[in-house]
Amino acid sequence: MAKKKALIIGTGLGGMATALRLAHKGYEVEMVEKHHQPGGRLNQLKKDGFTFDVGPSFFSMSYEFKELFDYVGVPNPLGFNELNPLYSVYFAHRDKPYNIYKELDKLAKEFGDHEPNFEAKASKYLKAAKEIFHDTEYKVVKRNFNGLLDYGASLATVPLKHGPKLFRSMWSELGRHFDGQDTKVIFSLVAFFLGATPFDTPAVYSLLNYTELIHDGYWNVKGGMYKIVEAMVKLLTERGVKMTFNTEIVGVEANEFNVTAFIDQHGKRHTADLFVCNSDAAMFRGVILKRRKFNEHKLDGMDWTLAPFTIYLGVKGKLEGLHHHNYFLGSNFNEYADNIFKTSIAPEKPYYYVNVSSKSNPDCAPEGCENIFILCPVPDLRYKKTWEDTEQLANTIIQDLSERVGYDIAANTLTRTVYNPIDWRDKFNLYRGSGLGLAHGMNQVGGMRPANKDELFSNLYYVGASTIPGTGLPIVVISSRLATERILADHPIS
Ligand SMILES: Cc1cc2nc3c(=O)[nH]c(=O)nc-3n(C[C@H](O)[C@H](O)[C@H](O)COP(=O)(O)OP(=O)(O)OC[C@H]3O[C@@H](n4cnc5c(N)ncnc54)[C@H](O)[C@@H]3O)c2cc1C
Repeated sequence: MAKKKALIIGTGLGGMATALRLAHKGYEVEMVEKHHQPGGRLNQLKKDGFTFDVGPSFFSMSYEFKELFDYVGVPNPLGFNELNPLYSVYFAHRDKPYNIYKELDKLAKEFGDHEPNFEAKASKYLKAAKEIFHDTEYKVVKRNFNGLLDYGASLATVPLKHGPKLFRSMWSELGRHFDGQDTKVIFSLVAFFLGATPFDTPAVYSLLNYTELIHDGYWNVKGGMYKIVEAMVKLLTERGVKMTFNTEIVGVEANEFNVTAFIDQHGKRHTADLFVCNSDAAMFRGVILKRRKFNEHKLDGMDWTLAPFTIYLGVKGKLEGLHHHNYFLGSNFNEYADNIFKTSIAPEKPYYYVNVSSKSNPDCAPEGCENIFILCPVPDLRYKKTWEDTEQLANTIIQDLSERVGYDIAANTLTRTVYNPIDWRDKFNLYRGSGLGLAHGMNQVGGMRPANKDELFSNLYYVGASTIPGTGLPIVVISSRLATERILADHPIS
C-alpha cells in the first residue's frame, strides 16, 4: 500500500519536529522552505570566520527536546549546558551587574540591602508560581482543544485561586511581593521572553520565574544552538525526508473539504495527502488562504510580540567580565517599557540583551576573538514602518555597550551584520516583523489562539509559535506533539 504523504511548509523547529514524528510513524514526508537553509528563526550566520546563532540563544524545559528524541527512539544527540548564573543584569545606575543565580541564598546576596528579606519573599512568590505551572501544564498548555467549549471546560478545572492573576499584570503581581525596583525589573524580564512587557503580560506568567529559577533552569547547546537544527536534519535525512529550499508557498488549490495542492512562487504544485503549515498560523490563514477573519485589518488588530533588532559582531580581543547572557538596562524601566514599543521612533538609550557564545563555544570565533550577538526589542512594523536609521541605532547600541564593558568594540570590529524588523519579516515571513509571533494575552492563548487544525480543510494542520501552545523553542516542540496527535487521529497510517 502507498504511504500517506505529508507536505510540511517551513523548516522551523516546529516543522522539523513534526516531520520527525510523522516520518517515525511511517508517513512519507516532504518539506518546502522559503529560506536558503533550515531552522527558521533558529538559524545560523557564518561570516568572516565567525559563526553566529541568528535568533534563540538559550531555552527552558530542556526535557521537551528529550521527549522528542525519545518519541523517535534515538538517544539525545545534543549536548546541553546548564546556565548558572542564568544571566547577568547591568543597570545604568549601578557599577556592577546582578548575577542571577539559581540558588536563592546566593541570589539574596546579589540583591543585598536593595531587597531585605529577599529569600523569604522570593520563596513565597515562587511557590505560587510553581502552583500555576503545575495546575495548568496539562490542562491548558499540553493539550489540544476541540473548540471553545472544550477549552472553557478545561479552564474550569484549574483551581479558582489563580483567577485574579488573569486580570492583574505581571508588574503589579511583582509589586505585591517585592519592594526593590531592581528586583521587580529583573523578575519581570521573563515577560520579554514572551515578546511583551510586564505591563501588558498577565500575572499568570510568573510561572516563567518558576521555570527559570527552580523547575528546569536555562540551557544552551554545546557547539551553538544551530546544532539542534543540524541534528534534526541528520535524523530527517536518515528517515528519507526530502527538503527543498528557496521555495515559498504563495497559493493554494482546494476543493470544498480538502487542500489538493500548495503552489510555490514559480507556479509549481506541491501535492500530498495532508499538509502541515509551519508558517505563522494567523498570517497564513489571511495571506494564503484569504480567510476574512485573518485579513490585513484583523491581523493588524491582533496583539503581536515585539520585533527584534539584532546585531552580529565579530570582535578582535576578549570582553572580560561578560557572562554568556547579559542584559543592559537603563534606569527608567517603567517609562521605557511602557512607551517605547508603540512609537515610530527608535530608542535613544536602548535596552538590550548581549550573548557571547564564543565564551563557551570557542569554535564560533577565531582565536583571540569573540562573537557578539545583540538583541534589542523594538516596535513592530505597524508602529515603526521605516528603518533608514538602522545603522544609527546599531552604532548607538555598540557605543553604549563599549562604554559599559570598557572596551572599544567599534574599533575592534572585524565583521558586522544588522537585521532590522524588515529583514526579519522578509527572511522568515514574520508578520510585521514581530519576533515571536502572536502575543500571549488571555484572548490569544489556548482555545482562543489560531487552532492547529484548520477550520475548513480536513487535511490541513498548523505547528509553531502562533498556534497552540505558543512561542519559544520547547513550547514549539510541544506544538509538534499536539499537531502530530491530531494527524494520527484524523489520518491514521493504516
Ligand atoms: C531574535 C529572536 C531571539 C529568540 N530567542 C529565543 C530564545 O533565546 N529562546 C527561545 O526558546 N526562543 C527564542 N526565540 C523564539 C523562537 O525562535 C521561536 O519561538 C521558534 O524558533 C519558532 O519556531 P517555529 O517553528 O514556530 O517558526 P520559524 O522558526 O519561524 O519557522 C517557520 C519557517 O517557515 C518558513 N516559511 C514561512 N512562510 C513560508 C512559506 N509561505 N513558504 C515556505 N516557507 C515558509 C520560514 O522561512 C521559517 O523557516 C527567539 C526568536 C527571535 C526572533
